[in-house]
Amino acid sequence: MAARPETVTSKNVDLSNCDREQIQFPGAILPHGVMLVLSEPELRILQASQNTDVFFGVSARMLLGQTLDVFLAREALTEIEDALRRERLDGPPVMISLTDVFTDMNGTNFHVLAHRIDKVLILEFEPEVIHPLTVAQLYSNLRASTLELQKARSLQQFLDKTVDYIREFTGFDRIMAYKFSPDGSGEVVAESVAGNHTRYLGQHFPPSDIPAPSRRLFSMTWLRHQPDINYTPVSMIPENNPANGGPLDMSYAILRSVSVMYTGYLKNMGTTASMVMTLLKEGKLWGLIACHHHSGPRHVSYEARLACEFLANVVSLLIAEKEDLEHSEYNLQRTTNQDRLIQSMSRTGEFFDSLTSQPETLLDLIRSTGAAIVADGKVVTLGKTPNESQIQSLIQWLASGSKEVVFSTDSLPKLLLGADAYKDSACGVLALRFSVTKKDFILWFRPEIIQTIKWAGDPRKPVDISDDGQRLMPRTSFALWEETVHQKSEPWLEVELQSAREFRIAIMELIVRKAENLGELYSRLEQSYLELDSFTYVASHDLKEPLRGIHNYARFLLEDCEELLREEDVAKLRSVIRLSQRMENLLDSLLKYSRASRKELETHQVNTNAVLREVLEALNSRIEESRARVKIEDPMPVIRADAMTLGEIFANLISNAIKYNDKPERAIEIGCVPDQSQPTFYVRDNGIGIDPAHFEDVFTIFRRLHAVHEFGGGNGAGLTIARKLAERHGGKMWLESTVNEGSTFYFSVQEK
Ligand code: ADP
Repeated sequence: MAARPETVTSKNVDLSNCDREQIQFPGAILPHGVMLVLSEPELRILQASQNTDVFFGVSARMLLGQTLDVFLAREALTEIEDALRRERLDGPPVMISLTDVFTDMNGTNFHVLAHRIDKVLILEFEPEVIHPLTVAQLYSNLRASTLELQKARSLQQFLDKTVDYIREFTGFDRIMAYKFSPDGSGEVVAESVAGNHTRYLGQHFPPSDIPAPSRRLFSMTWLRHQPDINYTPVSMIPENNPANGGPLDMSYAILRSVSVMYTGYLKNMGTTASMVMTLLKEGKLWGLIACHHHSGPRHVSYEARLACEFLANVVSLLIAEKEDLEHSEYNLQRTTNQDRLIQSMSRTGEFFDSLTSQPETLLDLIRSTGAAIVADGKVVTLGKTPNESQIQSLIQWLASGSKEVVFSTDSLPKLLLGADAYKDSACGVLALRFSVTKKDFILWFRPEIIQTIKWAGDPRKPVDISDDGQRLMPRTSFALWEETVHQKSEPWLEVELQSAREFRIAIMELIVRKAENLGELYSRLEQSYLELDSFTYVASHDLKEPLRGIHNYARFLLEDCEELLREEDVAKLRSVIRLSQRMENLLDSLLKYSRASRKELETHQVNTNAVLREVLEALNSRIEESRARVKIEDPMPVIRADAMTLGEIFANLISNAIKYNDKPERAIEIGCVPDQSQPTFYVRDNGIGIDPAHFEDVFTIFRRLHAVHEFGGGNGAGLTIARKLAERHGGKMWLESTVNEGSTFYFSVQEK
């Protein structure tokens, strides 16, 4: 194969580049079988392994360009053709059962395995190996072991049984169940070993021991077998596949020659034959079952390999279930606590109080030594936690970047500068964020646990240098090497992260429900308010008519019959007239108030000076009568507003300023407060003032602080209407006042 400079193949691979090695294109096969690459439908031989003469007595070169019938009997050929029509053959090789197993000239029987890739057909001829057990016996053993595996009560028990069965089936010296960590390193979690070979149980292997290309192929096929590690690869001729001019993709081929890095590595471990099975959990690579032989070649029969493959399938299907068993009690407890917490939160509507005040707290939800709730900048802690300022800076960090809403680490000091200071309370953090906009979090903490990890060889030196000093070679030492690991907490389990995610959803639902309830309450209030408002309008409007009638008839009666009536009856009639008059005034105010809520604003550029000029003109007689001095601060602004509304507000405040004043010199100042976000005006007087206890009362409708006849007071609706008008204009009204010294009424408006 013409290797491009950046292409890593078996020819230029070493440990510095083996994670890029194109191991699916080795250009060679294992020597114990024969590979033919054929075009379809004519079944013409395009490529052949250079060992055909050993098995078929005809050289590979002679076979090229020929059709299969050169060395296959007619019946066998028909069976192959039938199978090719029947099967899809686009995945791992499928055995084509020939009536009489294909036999070569030496009398060796072969299994024929077929699969298609890149538009060619690959046939692999593998010599039959006689297994001591018959297929029926193998099957019955397999069934028994599957049943036993199902009964296993823990993951450990399950894996221990698995490695034992596989050793029984295959006769390998060592079977290891190997589990990958997220960082790519692996640990031997179960082992079955014959005799006194070295044991690796509990030991870890660095990620470089199984580079990425191998892991990719592991995910594609269930089983790979190398009967003899000390083999000499057999090349294909021609080197490239003539169908596409490129190297032949052997990803699925059972005879694929493996990387020299891998065989070198296995040899250094003292391995002479190997078989590896893939373990998947929920479709993802979970680990491997590695079978090593240490006493020469070991060729496992096709039937036994099928049985092992089947077992690896069963194990893969059961892993998730058995892993869950490990935490079943904890899971049950967690779910119960979670239900209780959620129930209590939805009962009280107070999330954060419930999380800390219940007998079941956050600490029962996820096993941890401390927890914190951070909401609206407030921090509440439980158990052992970092201090408040440390939590606040942790929150800032968690909220920065694009971290997941449920984020976890078992090694915070390695990610966050300064976190080493509190690793004895929070070396591990599980954080749950409520909203993307707010920095509200629930945090769980775990302290640092100093651990010792056993490595099969020093993981810092996963390579050796070749004798010529040119190539990085697989390491030769697998001697136990202990590493002390700092800055790590107990890891967060996937089930715990899942539980945090569920808890987040439950809380979000409660928040949404609460918001909906509030919204409903608000719209009901709004509805009642509208109804009340229209009632006020209708009542005040419709009552005026009959009231006018009562007033007029009482007046007519008095005019016509005053002389005929007794003096006390005349007094009663006068009361009716006075009271109906007063009632009419009240209704007028109510109507005015109601109109203030409905009023459509007409906004223009308004010169406040001009508005005030008109208001003062209208009030002129009262101003003169009271000899009040009105001063307007210069300059008053020009704003976008409704001139009528502005005028009504000013008129009300100015007339009050004149009325509620007992000073010989009534002084009124009108002005605009500078530098406000909204135009803000004031009307100041030197009048009787208002006790701060009544600051809000004066804005309540029909509430007067004085009797009607005092200070020529009105009916107590003026300020209520004035405030309503300011609010309609997007503003507010408030006051400052000192009894006997005077009051200042302020109001703001929003420019429309
Ligand atoms: P009214 O129409 O009766 O004047 P308002 O709603 O305008 O009613 O005022 C409510 C009460 O607030 C008045 O009865 C009065 O006691 C008090 N008040 C209003 N303005 C002033 C003021 N500038 N100085 C002192 N008291 C005031």
